[in-house]
Amino acid sequence: MIVLGIETSCDETGVALYHSERGLLADLLYSQIDLHKEYGGVVPELASRDHIRKLAPMVRQALQDSGLTRNDIDGIAYTAGPGLIGALLVGAATARGLAWAWQVPAVAVHHMEGHLLAPMLEPKPPEFPFVALLISGGHTQLVKVEGIGRYEILGESLDDAAGEAFDKTAKMLGLSYPGGPKLSALATRGHTRLHFPRPMTDRPGLDFSFSGLKTFALNTLQASERSAQDKADIALAFQEAVADTLTIKCRRALQQTGLKTLVVAGGVSANTQIRASLSAMAAREKAAIHFPRPAFCTDNGAMIAYAGCQRLLAGQREALAIKAKPRWPISDLSSI
Ligand code: ATP
Ligand code: MG
Ligand code: FE
Repeated sequence: MIVLGIETSCDETGVALYHSERGLLADLLYSQIDLHKEYGGVVPELASRDHIRKLAPMVRQALQDSGLTRNDIDGIAYTAGPGLIGALLVGAATARGLAWAWQVPAVAVHHMEGHLLAPMLEPKPPEFPFVALLISGGHTQLVKVEGIGRYEILGESLDDAAGEAFDKTAKMLGLSYPGGPKLSALATRGHTRLHFPRPMTDRPGLDFSFSGLKTFALNTLQASERSAQDKADIALAFQEAVADTLTIKCRRALQQTGLKTLVVAGGVSANTQIRASLSAMAAREKAAIHFPRPAFCTDNGAMIAYAGCQRLLAGQREALAIKAKPRWPISDLSSI
């Protein structure tokens, strides 16, 4: 089965073609970062308009790159939520329209299920059941995963998502949007001399809170001379605190569930210090750990094509309505 995957939930247009036996046949990504940069964050209306501009040409390009025609496509998967409503509607309407025109089934994919299943595209995919840590721009969740669509939330952030905390702290340090990767680069020049708190690790439970860290970073910056070295030191201390906190909670989740496989996905899982800290913990716990390749940590069409393909193979079909849900808990999904 060959599935066209379409991702437009935020500021990245992703288009991919996934073959159920041969793997990825095409994978295109267009990032709107330059468009939103001057506003310091994503402007929803501009995002929708840019998806409209890029999406159809990218679908054409994906077919051309892989030497396929529309007759080869067996189904279309699109991100139906969560995300920005206008941006979602562009992908959903395009996907639903193409599916109707090409007389193939369409399937609405949950964006975070896409992230969660992204490590399945790697040569050694994880095996169910496992614990998943989802760390992205809008989510920080620990999920017990029994199979596709069988998700139990073990814990989540009570305030800022990990990526959001990275981006807000980066902004305070004078780094441009999206600051996460830039803060990480700045941290490589930092000296270990500051210690930030590890929020909510001194009590039981698997929830997170990251907004206090951002305030702690601000107070530390204001009390300093704000030199380039001060900023690098703050970036390092912040990143260490996030890495350590995530690691403590993941170890707890593995111990609590008795599971021996950890999957880490979402944009923040591209962070090398976080990957190293979690990998070292997994080795100590004798657990397997799986990440997506860095390009598939952040938003992409490949993860949507993959997730949609699994649901289509299981016989899931969507009605003709265009489905877009800005809020959509992952625990509401049906199993296949
Ligand atoms: P969601 O998936 O929750 O809807 P999103 O799609 O905006 O949100 P992703 O695309 O998964 O989020 O990830 C983007 C986030 O990842 C941003 O907050 C970005 O700063 C962060 N990020 C990306 N690379 C890194 C990195 N190397 N270190 C830290 N943060 C990073
Ligand atoms: Mg993005
Ligand atoms: Fe995402």
